[in-house]
Amino acid sequence: MKVGIIRCQQTEDICPGNTDFAVAAKGNMAFEETGPVEIMGFVSCGGCPGKRAISRAKLMVDRGAEAIVFSSCISKGNPIGYPCPHYANMRDAVIKKVGPEIKIIEWTH
Ligand code: SF4
Repeated sequence: MKVGIIRCQQTEDICPGNTDFAVAAKGNMAFEETGPVEIMGFVSCGGCPGKRAISRAKLMVDRGAEAIVFSSCISKGNPIGYPCPHYANMRDAVIKKVGPEIKIIEWTH
């Protein structure tokens, strides 16, 4: 499966995303259900309040992503314990944009 990952732009300065790549390649953590996946895109939300995530998710789907993944920096607030306050709106707008056939995964590790 090919997945496109969306991460928190506010977290880019303190995390290179290496754990996302590691768990995706091994099919661990959030990818236990899918098994190992190919990360075909790794983008940020574009900055608060995350509106750019919607068009970026659609772009990744148009280029082959079968699932959109919100990394744990967004949904769980890794690594500083500060989840995105806009997450629910961002996720719901992405789901509406990409359609029901695209799998949504709400964390990575
Ligand atoms: S909208 Fe959320 S995910 Fe995006 S930069 Fe702001 S806090 Fe991070």
